[in-house]
Amino acid sequence: MSIATSSTTPIAVGIDVGGTGIKGAPVDLETGRLVAQRHRVPTPRPATPDAVCASVAEVVGSFDGLDPDAPIGVTFPGPVKRGVVSLAVNLGEAWRGFDARTHLESALGRVVHVVNDADAAGVAEVHYGDAADTDGLVIVTTLGTGIGTAVVYDGRLIPNSELGHLEIDGVDIESRAANSVREREELSWPAWSARLQDYYSHLEFLFSPDLFVVGGGVSKKAHMFLPKLRLRTPIVPARLLNTAGIVGAARLAAASAAERAAQLDHPGDGVRHRQ
Ligand code: BGC
Repeated sequence: MSIATSSTTPIAVGIDVGGTGIKGAPVDLETGRLVAQRHRVPTPRPATPDAVCASVAEVVGSFDGLDPDAPIGVTFPGPVKRGVVSLAVNLGEAWRGFDARTHLESALGRVVHVVNDADAAGVAEVHYGDAADTDGLVIVTTLGTGIGTAVVYDGRLIPNSELGHLEIDGVDIESRAANSVREREELSWPAWSARLQDYYSHLEFLFSPDLFVVGGGVSKKAHMFLPKLRLRTPIVPARLLNTAGIVGAARLAAASAAERAAQLDHPGDGVRHRQ
């Protein structure tokens, strides 16, 4: 797939690793738009770290004319610290403590930035979506196989929030309110909305956010459940839908590359490696 862009547009690549598909595209960082068609391959089964890293390399390799120095960001559905995935429940036990950054960098022969999938989606929404106009605390939730969350304060991500695993009435809320649970239990929209009400009321009580953004594939059907929720906090569907993870990963990778460059220019400044 070739890339349609002018030479001055800052471009980074985002790759979103999910339970069913691995999707990627080069992204125009000024607009948050994809500059080539999204390339998707199915997530290998079993989703071993080696097989997934090979699929990520295949997606990156599919973009003709990619600048060899373009930053690459890759999401995983689990908390990520300094490139290490501490746990990815929905990918499998082999991911516990997996150093995804080191493996991907050797598979691709280039620098890679690894982030949590919901954090990436959240960053995309607050920079390129409707949340871009909201100051203060924005909580982005993704309702899919699991529940992912991104906590963003005044545009700055507080990474790895994992609020999809809040325990409510003694139960991990992901196991009651994820979209996969709605499908599996064939819940009606009102029945599922009642579970979401418990979840968002609890989040609201804990954080007093200024805005909730609801992403994940089911946000296309937001009109079936969001109007049923009674909250003080405004709650809106995600704008970027199925590109949010890609766009946010690309943006975070570019920010990380800029930080590394600044550190090389001024080694004594103690710039931290941030998400
Ligand atoms: C994981 C999160 C992830 C979310 C969405 C949860 O099970 O713990 O890290 O963001 O699923 O994939």
